[in-house]
Amino acid sequence: MSTAVVVGSGIAGILSSILLKRKFEDVYIIEKNNQIGGLLKSFRNNEGIEFDCGTHFLRDTGHTELDALLFKEKLMDDWLVLDYLKVGNFFGGKLNDHSPFVDSTCLSEELYQKGMMELLSLGSLKTDYKNLEDQFHNLFGVIFTNYIFKPALQKFFGQELHEIVPNAHSLFIPSRLLGFNPETTRELKKSPVFDSKLGFHSYKDGLSNCKNYYPKCRGIGLWIENLTETLHENGVKIIAGSSVKQIKGSNQCVDSVVLDNGSQLNCNQLVWTVPPFLFIKACGLMSPIQFSPPARLFSGLHHFVFDKPFLTDLYYLSCYDPDFISFRVTLYPNVQQPKKSQGKYHLTVEVLSQGVPDLKRDSQTVFYELQKMKIITNTSKVLARDSEVVSGGFPIPTQKFVKGSQAQLELAKKQFNNSLFLGKNTGNSWFLNEVLVDTYHSITELLGA
Ligand SMILES: Cc1cc2nc3c(=O)[nH]c(=O)nc-3n(C[C@H](O)[C@H](O)[C@H](O)COP(=O)(O)OP(=O)(O)OC[C@H]3O[C@@H](n4cnc5c(N)ncnc54)[C@H](O)[C@@H]3O)c2cc1C
Repeated sequence: MSTAVVVGSGIAGILSSILLKRKFEDVYIIEKNNQIGGLLKSFRNNEGIEFDCGTHFLRDTGHTELDALLFKEKLMDDWLVLDYLKVGNFFGGKLNDHSPFVDSTCLSEELYQKGMMELLSLGSLKTDYKNLEDQFHNLFGVIFTNYIFKPALQKFFGQELHEIVPNAHSLFIPSRLLGFNPETTRELKKSPVFDSKLGFHSYKDGLSNCKNYYPKCRGIGLWIENLTETLHENGVKIIAGSSVKQIKGSNQCVDSVVLDNGSQLNCNQLVWTVPPFLFIKACGLMSPIQFSPPARLFSGLHHFVFDKPFLTDLYYLSCYDPDFISFRVTLYPNVQQPKKSQGKYHLTVEVLSQGVPDLKRDSQTVFYELQKMKIITNTSKVLARDSEVVSGGFPIPTQKFVKGSQAQLELAKKQFNNSLFLGKNTGNSWFLNEVLVDTYHSITELLGA
């Protein structure tokens, strides 16, 4: 009897389990929480209104077999299929409700002119950057870096940009700016150099064929319910409320895993989607590498129900303004367009912090920020509010963090030939579709081997 054990039931664990069942007779998925789904959960308030906890929208990966598996037609009847998402941003005291990119014209005329002159005169793009500051200087010049990207990113990272590794900004802010007018931008974007620096002025421009999906009337957790059906149909065994205490092996192979309730599962293939330092610990390894979890930001989620419609039709927006604590605001009724709103309009505001957040204080601050950003009216009343914290979320990718995480992953990988490390906790992928594609390729390669 061949058995695969998958640890962690986020999307990496769920997809791995479905694929592994093609080869292994028994597939177990071990999840420490009582509910599966990781960051794709939805929170349901006392009145049954749903709010999302991590990723909100699904999007085709562009990989035919994978998309067919994930977005099965029979399961998608309850989903909206969206050609584009209405995404905006708030920066420099202004709500831009037609583009996710920061508008450089929000700077003073003098700074904007100087910044644009600098941007237009920059030389060719480097391929190798020392750190994030170096990357932004090369892409946008000193002025736009200092007046736009630095304040926006230090708000999240709480670190100087030269401490942060290149490309880490993509967790929070797109690496393009708005400048000029829409027509000039379209012309300039025909050049690859300007295409990499300038964003389209509207979220309707530059669309691909990939569709986006969101439930017609529930939260993103519906997807996990859909995928749980697929897990059951395939005979995957889910063990929730449990974690792996010990990994036993011989001859460079994992033989079995021991769960925290003392039970033992034989194991011919282990797929680990939770932090590698937990693997090292479960192997009982003494190592010079720190075992502690890597530094991550806390995500405070503030769910509100208001009595009046919102002042914008955006689906979501990111707030880069350093004077505001809000990060991302998701406005569910704008997406779902309910026929009857019954006077209830719900949204979620994400707030990132380096320390444990004070949820009560932040919820009040966020309420005032929603008024200042002109998302709710000054007379909108709160009908319901809930707050929660997602820990272990966004990493703070300093050079030290990345080196430490890579060293932990390398040490873990060296132990056994039949263990595979996948998901966001490897540090190799972060966004949902990156995790999906990476997981799909890794498992199909394993199965083909
Ligand atoms: C607040 C937030 C917002 C995000 N928004 C977006 C977005 O808009 N778009 C996007 O593309 N990506 C977004 N992401 C990233 C994306 O959602 C995740 O990277 C992706 O879902 C990761 O999937 P995963 O399976 O690797 O990890 P996770 O979803 O974290 O799953 C890991 C699972 O393992 C479980 N676990 C942990 N320790 C143990 C243990 N010891 N034993 C057993 N189980 C354990 C956890 O409970 C969890 O269920 C967001 C992330 C966060 C934190």
